[in-house]
Amino acid sequence: MSSHHHNSNNNTSERIPMLMKATSNDTTLTTSPKNEKFSTPHKFYDMRPLSSGSSSSSSSSTNGIIINNYGINNKNSFMTRICCHMMKTVQRNIQKCVAALVLISFFSIIFFTQYMDSSSPLVGLIHRDTKPMPLIHCQTLNKSPSDPSQTHDHRSEARLRIDSKVLVFVETTYSKLGREIAEELVYNRIKYKIEVAGKSLPVLTNLDKGRYGVIVFENLDKYLSMDKWNRELLDKYCREYSVGIVGFMSASEETLVGAQLKGFPLYVHTNLRLRDASLNPSSPVLRLTRAGDTAWGPLPGNDWAVFQHNHSTYEPLEFAQKNTLDYPNDGGIQPPLTTVLQDHGKLDNIQRIYFGAGLKFWLHRLLFLDALSYLSHGQLSVSLNRMILVDIDDIFVGERSTRLKPDDVHALISTQSRIAEMVPGFRFNLGFSGKYFHHGTKEENLGDDMLLRNVDKFTWFSHMWNHQQPHLYDNLTILMNDMMLNKEFAKLKGIPLNSGYSVSPHHSGVYPVHELLYEAWKKVWNVKVTSTEEYPHLRPARLRRGFIHRNIMVLPRQTCGLFTHTMYIDRYPGGRDKLDESIQGGELFQTIVYNQINIFMTHMSNYGSDRLALYTFESVIKFLRCWTNLKLSSTPPIQLGEHYFKLHPDESDPIWGNPCEDARHLKIWSRSKSCDSLPKFLVIGPQKTGTTALYSFLSMHPSLASNLPSPDTFEEIQFFNGNNYYRGLDWYMSFFPLQNATSSNSVHIGSPSGSSTNARYFFEKSATYFDGDLVPKRAHQLLPNAKLVVILISPAKRAYSWYQHTRAHGDVIANNYSFYQVITASDTAPKPLRDLRNRCLNPGKYAQHLERWLAFYPNQQLHIIDGEQLRLNPIDVMNDLQRFLKIAPLMDYSNHLRYDPKKGFYCQVLNESRNKCLGKSKGRIYPEMDEKSTKILQRYYLSHNTALVKLLKKLGSRPIPTWLKNELSTTT
Ligand SMILES: [Zn+2]
Repeated sequence: MSSHHHNSNNNTSERIPMLMKATSNDTTLTTSPKNEKFSTPHKFYDMRPLSSGSSSSSSSSTNGIIINNYGINNKNSFMTRICCHMMKTVQRNIQKCVAALVLISFFSIIFFTQYMDSSSPLVGLIHRDTKPMPLIHCQTLNKSPSDPSQTHDHRSEARLRIDSKVLVFVETTYSKLGREIAEELVYNRIKYKIEVAGKSLPVLTNLDKGRYGVIVFENLDKYLSMDKWNRELLDKYCREYSVGIVGFMSASEETLVGAQLKGFPLYVHTNLRLRDASLNPSSPVLRLTRAGDTAWGPLPGNDWAVFQHNHSTYEPLEFAQKNTLDYPNDGGIQPPLTTVLQDHGKLDNIQRIYFGAGLKFWLHRLLFLDALSYLSHGQLSVSLNRMILVDIDDIFVGERSTRLKPDDVHALISTQSRIAEMVPGFRFNLGFSGKYFHHGTKEENLGDDMLLRNVDKFTWFSHMWNHQQPHLYDNLTILMNDMMLNKEFAKLKGIPLNSGYSVSPHHSGVYPVHELLYEAWKKVWNVKVTSTEEYPHLRPARLRRGFIHRNIMVLPRQTCGLFTHTMYIDRYPGGRDKLDESIQGGELFQTIVYNQINIFMTHMSNYGSDRLALYTFESVIKFLRCWTNLKLSSTPPIQLGEHYFKLHPDESDPIWGNPCEDARHLKIWSRSKSCDSLPKFLVIGPQKTGTTALYSFLSMHPSLASNLPSPDTFEEIQFFNGNNYYRGLDWYMSFFPLQNATSSNSVHIGSPSGSSTNARYFFEKSATYFDGDLVPKRAHQLLPNAKLVVILISPAKRAYSWYQHTRAHGDVIANNYSFYQVITASDTAPKPLRDLRNRCLNPGKYAQHLERWLAFYPNQQLHIIDGEQLRLNPIDVMNDLQRFLKIAPLMDYSNHLRYDPKKGFYCQVLNESRNKCLGKSKGRIYPEMDEKSTKILQRYYLSHNTALVKLLKKLGSRPIPTWLKNELSTTT
């Protein structure tokens, strides 16, 4: 388990930019969090998981004015609003109110006649006792799915010559379909590259391998109208590497009737409205997708294209019918129209799949994945295994009359066994807070008893005893005592104690990590796995990931659209149609299609009343069986966690974000913690350039404070670069204790976490940060606004000084080899010598390290100090630095620094006659570098120094250091 810290495979680094991109895209898409508006009906405990907010339920349903066809529910609220409004304005005028009522009745009649197809118009008005039953019509539902491993293999030898990456040509970087394609790829963790069509082609091959397994055109036109040169190049690549093309017909204002696709015996009709889609069951493309049934009803959009062909290279994949409501004169049965078409490549040896519409139609999202799999010869096949765990949070927590009655428990058990037939191993996972046991009505208490009589039919996990949020505890013993109470309760009631799983109310303490929770969980419950939807952030859901901290696996959790308040189908936001849409190809369905491991959080209240959760899960599972070949299964949480990190080993390393950058995180962060106790700037090194001197100068400043010294790393914390990172944020912050609020120089700022702050400005110096591979990314996640201070001296000088320093510290290798031997050690030299060589030489490749930092931080946050100037003229350097850091008050260092002729460098002024200088080890005297080594290093660093000059010029007005000019001029 400890080895997970060192995993860093290539996929990770490739995936990062694409994830980042998707995030930034998403911010433009998502509306403000909607969960806040869901006020809780629960009064007797106040920590309802607001967190389980829907990520997609943003719809017109929140807007009472829009009358949509989401069914009767909306209309009710619409009418209520009108009525309330009217009541207010015409309070004293009965006549007008009567008129309003007449108006309302009129609306009602219009509605009822318009929406006849909802089973009964009265259902929304009368509180029903009937529960919705899962009704998925599907011809193939009862036939068991064929074994995916045998019939749906797209693999061929050709896949060995291509990488598992998609090249997507988009119209513009902001085009809608392009973004949807990218999001679907991110969801499925498929690597991709985005190119804007119409420009020159990117490099397609790498040595003898094709870089891309499939080429996708957001707009097929862009492929057809490519200039001759590029088109020939692309087609040649596709033929040579046996790579296929996916093209989407893009909507255009002009309606085409039987227009020929340039260069192909293929004709299109565009701008059609269609309905009732079905699949060609014998298409070789189908793998994940199952030709289950007909997707009845109108298809989304009015800009569909259909394909007409009569050549044997073409084989339809999807059909649809003309929407007879739109074309009433056509009458009778329509011939099926081809909406997705496969070109087997018989004409020009290139396989293609054409889509007559984008990804708005859910079935196309499945077919797109299959197209990628097929056209890449299985190189881009996603796994067909899906695991599902459904947590029922707070099985005993809930207000009277919202809790489970014996009937509901009975329904829970029988639905569970029906689901288990389709999802082997399926059991509801019940979370309990013992304090609320038997807090319902008489009948509901019988429900509690019935749950316990059937205790062995479910899996169980412990919640907090009183549903208290763990981050509110600052005392381990008290937190453990509360957990013990729940354990005693479990023992008493015969609830199994060994699930190794727990979740925290409101995600509190899981992320951002509250170390006390992890400690108490391990000690009291031996927790090995938990889940949250907060890592790294709630939204977008497709970027939720897992991590491991203190040997507890934290798995990402998905939402199913049901929350504590979702108890009646008619009150589902957007109405029943909205829920059914999510189940039948929409968000919930897609969540399971895209995630190999799904942990859903539901609440007890979803299982009483209308039993919406039972309806939802049984329905979606049936729908998945109908339309996909996915192999569904379930397993207890620990196995689920182990499986998760086997699939995604690169995720086990956590990344600590800044809790103050996310309002939701801040809410579940301990009040005793504050972002003020994070450094405002970092002195990042590199080693042996004068960072210790700078550190001592900075420490003289009354407004600045550095971290407490670390006992194990000689002062420096070295948090971001080594194993200390796994000790977590609380550990790091413990080095920056905030001063007592009562101290004289503290200023009370209304900091978000409510704690007082001091005027002092924290900084950290760890000189090895500079060249640490992971440091910029980690530092930026936690301290995105931090300023960075770098000191540079001649890299050759630095290497030599570092070598001497290492010798002086008793390093055996450094003492056994001369400097010359170290820097000239070949790649066949013993490993310890090679390691020493790398540590000696690599930090001096300044430009490349700086570029890595600048990939995360903007230029304006970086300050580069010429180390020679720091030595010769520290007073000016410190003044510049203070201005860069915007520190007030400006301290005049000429009163505090003085040249010490004995030492040969500047020291702190103590009084008129005495200086305080750095210790013996600083400014150490050693023989000059030998000439051979000097020559070698000049050559070695030439390209790096040249790159540094370029970079410094690019960064702006900084003068080029004299040592740098000299090194470049002497080399030529
Ligand atoms: Zn809860």
